Amino acid sequence: MRQADRKIQYMEVPLLDLKAQYQTIKKRVLEVVEEIFENQYFILGPRVEALENKIADYCCVDHAVGVSSGTDALIISLMASGIGSGDRVITTPYTFFATAGAIVRVGATPIFIDIDPDTYNLDPVRLKEAVDKLSNEELKKVKAIIPVHLYGQCVDMDPLLDVAHANEWTIIEDAAQAIGAEYKGHRAGSIGDFGCFSFFPSKNLGAFGDGGMVTAGDAKVYERLKILRGHGSSPKYYHKLVGGNFRLDALQAAIVTVKLDYLDKWTDIRRENAALYRKLFSDAGLMDMIGLPQEKESRHIYNQFVIRVEKNRDKLRSHLSEQGIGTEIYYPVPLHLQECFSKLGYGPGDCPVAETAANQTIALPIFPELTEAQLAYVVDKVGEFYDR
Ligand SMILES: *Cc1c(COP(=O)(O)O)cnc(C)c1O
Repeated sequence: MRQADRKIQYMEVPLLDLKAQYQTIKKRVLEVVEEIFENQYFILGPRVEALENKIADYCCVDHAVGVSSGTDALIISLMASGIGSGDRVITTPYTFFATAGAIVRVGATPIFIDIDPDTYNLDPVRLKEAVDKLSNEELKKVKAIIPVHLYGQCVDMDPLLDVAHANEWTIIEDAAQAIGAEYKGHRAGSIGDFGCFSFFPSKNLGAFGDGGMVTAGDAKVYERLKILRGHGSSPKYYHKLVGGNFRLDALQAAIVTVKLDYLDKWTDIRRENAALYRKLFSDAGLMDMIGLPQEKESRHIYNQFVIRVEKNRDKLRSHLSEQGIGTEIYYPVPLHLQECFSKLGYGPGDCPVAETAANQTIALPIFPELTEAQLAYVVDKVGEFYDR
């Protein structure tokens, strides 16, 4: 495109636009919602059970328990594992806050292990090194590990599982961004002891509000999850455990059930959008300026398409914003440097790969309803910033 044409062009490209998606599912959503309004059955019940069965099938696991959010999925998994005060749980510093927040909320202490610079996921090599350095006494306190399949790509699980199994840790997959992602043919959430999913509206399978799901392979764990979800009561009004209100609404379950039928199609289009971005960035001669997401595992579901730039990330972001393009920084402050965790004793330099990523990454629009013209416009405007 000629320089002169570029200058006059303007397009809105939001980071995410759920209104377009709603138009394609509106009829079916209104049908199920109306049915629930008529029967006034709002909490748990057959609608939630139907979704649990469908998600268990979709994720290739035996059991699934609908819960109130992805955050509560993490909390209830930790509770079901008996993790609490004095325990240590290993995770990544480069994730949404909830991953570490859940650990602290059950009274345990997170240990942050730095990430792989190519995938932004917890680095199993660094995990092994860090574990070898722990004293026996410290190592004994470690009860679980929470790998996070960030942006929709699975963690390199095999070497992580080796360390986890050798130490008898509980493995809780944070698959909030990764429903349908695969690692060596295994679905996210089917690899560890627990899989935690979120139906927050911006996830690939979003509800019309908050919601979440826990998957589990073990029947006893599944029973415990169901009891903990309703204040630990079993039978009703008899409490062997202290749980919480982690229940999922029938309305949210019904809407997510409708949307699940479309998920594979939407995922395919996200993957096509990613492939088109790759081609366009390459054709524009921008590959030396920006790092594109690296697909290391077989089915990246692109909840986010995150590029990295060495310099001027924030200026690039402002430039794109002025041109009508929505972006986001996931995440500007790694968790080991968050103020609320200052007592844990981490400082700058403790997780250098995550710290660099926090300064260099920027998420571009990738949602399925984007047009090719919009994707081309984004690449064009990135090129414009770099004078290409
Ligand atoms: C969204 C998200 C969560 C929390 O899910 P909510 O449903 O918003 O509570 C947890 N972990 C990760 C990695 C997430 O992206």
